[in-house]
Amino acid sequence: MTQIRTRIASHRGGTLEYGDSTLPGFEATAGMPVEEVEFDLHPTRDGAVMVNHDATLDRTTDTHGVIAGLTEAEVRAATINYGAGTHPISLQDLCACFRYSRVDFRCEVKADANGLPYKGFVPRVVHMLYEEEMLSRTVFSSFMLEVLDEFATASERPRLWLVSVPLMRQLGLATLLGVARAHGLRELSFNAEIADASLQAAVLGAGFEFGCWGAHTAPLIRKMLAMDVKVFTTDRPTLAVALRRQLLEGIQA
Ligand code: MG
Repeated sequence: MTQIRTRIASHRGGTLEYGDSTLPGFEATAGMPVEEVEFDLHPTRDGAVMVNHDATLDRTTDTHGVIAGLTEAEVRAATINYGAGTHPISLQDLCACFRYSRVDFRCEVKADANGLPYKGFVPRVVHMLYEEEMLSRTVFSSFMLEVLDEFATASERPRLWLVSVPLMRQLGLATLLGVARAHGLRELSFNAEIADASLQAAVLGAGFEFGCWGAHTAPLIRKMLAMDVKVFTTDRPTLAVALRRQLLEGIQA
């Protein structure tokens, strides 16, 4: 290995370094030598698209409520826990933050508070990214096949399937790969903890690209780099950048 191909995706703007989906985290990410910024989207009652992990404000802010039942102003009024007093931002704010950055988008559309896809939301997200001139720099991700199907209808941008550990255990790898193929998916993303060389070889051997999500510790980040995965998400982008640089310097020494 003379170079490192593995891409780093700053997960929610680096949750463990800057708080969950905060503007300071996204601004810092925009200036980092990482390849992607990962974020999650939910609609408000009055038609805005907000960047937040959960469908509610309950866990990550000082406020309670289902985002889809609130106005944009009400969501913006919440203060993010451990977020230096900052507030949730919209997709348009995020686009402004990354317009002149080299870091590309890894956009996840989440389920609603009942675990179901939002009706008609995906085309709105695609249209907004297009209007903001960020669509050509976006990869779409979801745990939900319905959402990935909707992205295929609305856009030709790449899509990746986030595979949960329970789903993988339930389906088994062969069925899982068959389902992915049936939905026209080319890339799968597995939990970093359970990813290993044999899983990677089987997925690559079946013609899919192999990535991981959830590499939030130094050992897991080192594992991702050693496995030469395509891309991994991490809540600690600064740490991931440092570890990747160390590895590269070791190779070049
Ligand atoms: Mg996500």
